[in-house]
Amino acid sequence: MSTLVSRSLCELAQLVNAGKASCREVTEAFLDRSDQLEGRLGAFVSLRREEALREAEDADRLRARGEVRSRWHGLPLAVKEILVSPNLETTCGSRILRGFRAPYEATVLGRVREAGMVVIGTTNMDEFAMGSSCENSAHGVTANPWDLSRVPGGSSGGSAAAVAAREVPVALGTDTGGSIRQPAALCGVVGLKPTYGRVSRYGLVAFASSLDQVGPIARTVEDAASLLGVIAGHDPRDSTSMDVGVPDYAAALDDPPTGLRVGIPREFVAEDGADPEVLERMHDAVRVLEAKGAKTVEVSLPHTPYGVAAYYLICTAEASSNLSRYDGVKYGFRSEAATLDEMYKRSRSEGFGAEVKRRILLGTFVLSAGYYDAYYRKAQQVRTLIRQDFQRAFENCDVIATPTSPGPAWPLGERVNDPLKMYLSDVFTVTVNLAGLPALSVPCGFTSAGLPLGLQLIAPPLEEPRLLAVGHTYQRETDWHQAAPEL
Ligand code: GLN
Repeated sequence: MSTLVSRSLCELAQLVNAGKASCREVTEAFLDRSDQLEGRLGAFVSLRREEALREAEDADRLRARGEVRSRWHGLPLAVKEILVSPNLETTCGSRILRGFRAPYEATVLGRVREAGMVVIGTTNMDEFAMGSSCENSAHGVTANPWDLSRVPGGSSGGSAAAVAAREVPVALGTDTGGSIRQPAALCGVVGLKPTYGRVSRYGLVAFASSLDQVGPIARTVEDAASLLGVIAGHDPRDSTSMDVGVPDYAAALDDPPTGLRVGIPREFVAEDGADPEVLERMHDAVRVLEAKGAKTVEVSLPHTPYGVAAYYLICTAEASSNLSRYDGVKYGFRSEAATLDEMYKRSRSEGFGAEVKRRILLGTFVLSAGYYDAYYRKAQQVRTLIRQDFQRAFENCDVIATPTSPGPAWPLGERVNDPLKMYLSDVFTVTVNLAGLPALSVPCGFTSAGLPLGLQLIAPPLEEPRLLAVGHTYQRETDWHQAAPEL
C-alpha cells in the first residue's frame, strides 16, 4: 500500500504544495488502492481512472506555471452518485435512472471543479438515499471495511466505506435523516451534515427537499472543514439556500472553545435506547472534552420519541411527490407497453426497488384526502415541537452530544426484511434534520468486537465553526481516527 493513501487531504495538500508529490502520483495511489479493494468492498459505482489521471496531470501542469486554483487543486475526492453532472452518470442507485446523465452540473460539483479537485469516482448508495445500510442499491451492496460481512451504514455507505478504506481521502455524501453521519459512524470516519440551507441543493437529486443537505465525509475534522469550505455558500439557483457569508472553517479549528457547555439529552442516553457499549464510549468521549475544560449539563429534548415517526411521515410524503417525475418518459429506464398508462405503470414497477415503492405508497397515503390531517399535518406539528426542543436546550448549552447510532454496524441482510427495525436505527439522527441543524459525527472508539462507533455533536444553525472546533479538539486528544481497518 502506498503511504500516500494513509495521508489526510490536508497532509496531501502540504506534500503537493511543497513539491514533494505530484497530483498524478497522489491520484494514482488512490486509484490503485481502489482497484485492489473494490472486488471485496463495492464502495464505488464508477471509477474515472483515465479522466481523473488526465485532470491530475493538468493540475500538475497548471501548478508548475503558478496557476494554483486552491490548496486542493489536483487532489482527489469521491462523490455520492446523487449529484448530477454532464461528466458523470447519476443513477441514485436506481434501475429507473439507468444510463442517466444530466445536461447540467450540481452547484457543489461546480465548486469542487473550480477548486481544481479531481473526482475519482461515484459512490454507492441506497436507492434515492432511502435506507440506512446501503443494501437498497441497484448496483449491489457495499461492505463495511472493518468487517466485510457487515453493512457500512447508509445511505451514503459507499462514500463512508471508501474513505475508511483509504480508497479516497474525502468524499461527498448527502444527509436527509442521518445518511452522512450514520455511515461515517459505522465506518469509523468523520461526517458532517451542515445547517439546512448552508450548502446548495441545486443538482442534488431530491429525496425529501425540506431535509436534504450535502456534506463532507473525511477521516479528520480538519479535512471535513476544508471540504465544507469548498462547497458551502449561497446559490441563487436554490431558493432554500441561505444568503450568508462562508466563514473560514479551517481557521475556526484553532479557536478552541473556552467555557464550552456540552448538553447531554436525557432522552438520548436512556439505558434502553442504545447498546451499553455505545453509551459508555459516548460518556468516555464527553470526559475527554471535560478534561479540556468543558462542562456538561443535562438537557431535555422531550419530543425525541416522536422523531422517527414524524420523520418517516414527512420524508415519505415529500418523496412521493419528488419521485412522481420518474414516469419512463423523461428519464432513464422505460418499459415497453401498448398504452401510455401501461408504460407508466410498468416503468415504475420495474424501475423502482422495494424500499422506494414502500415509501411512495406510504407518502401518497399520508398526503391523501382524509389522512392528511391525521398524519402529514400532525407530523409537521411534531416537527415544530422538535425544533423548539432544540432551541430551548441550546439556551443552556453550546453543543449537544449523543451517540450517532444506537449500535454498531449490523450483519448484511439482517434488517432488509424488517423495515421498522431499520427505521428505528435512525432515532439519533433524524431529529437534527427535522430541526435543520448542523451535526458532526466523529469516531469515538470501538466495540469489544472491534466495530467503530461515532459521537454526534449538534449545534445551533450556522454554528458549524463551533462544531468543527469541538470535533478537532477531540481528535487532538484521541487517536481513534488514526486506526485503519485491515484489508
Ligand atoms: N436512513 C434514513 C432513511 O432511510 C436517512 C436517509 C438519508 O439521510 N438519506 O430515510
